[in-house]
Amino acid sequence: MATIFWVTCPRCGGKFYCHTQDLRHTDWKLLCPFCQHRFHQDESPQIVE
Ligand SMILES: [Zn+2]
Repeated sequence: MATIFWVTCPRCGGKFYCHTQDLRHTDWKLLCPFCQHRFHQDESPQIVE
């Protein structure tokens, strides 16, 4: 079963999840599905794993 983590968009505050295996602890930029803002996961005000 895939594990996920929840991130919060620093621009619109929307919460969405990403797959930990693919994305966590990488430099990959996340794309907010609500406002299409791209940001590094370190910029997220909250990450729930
Ligand atoms: Zn957003």
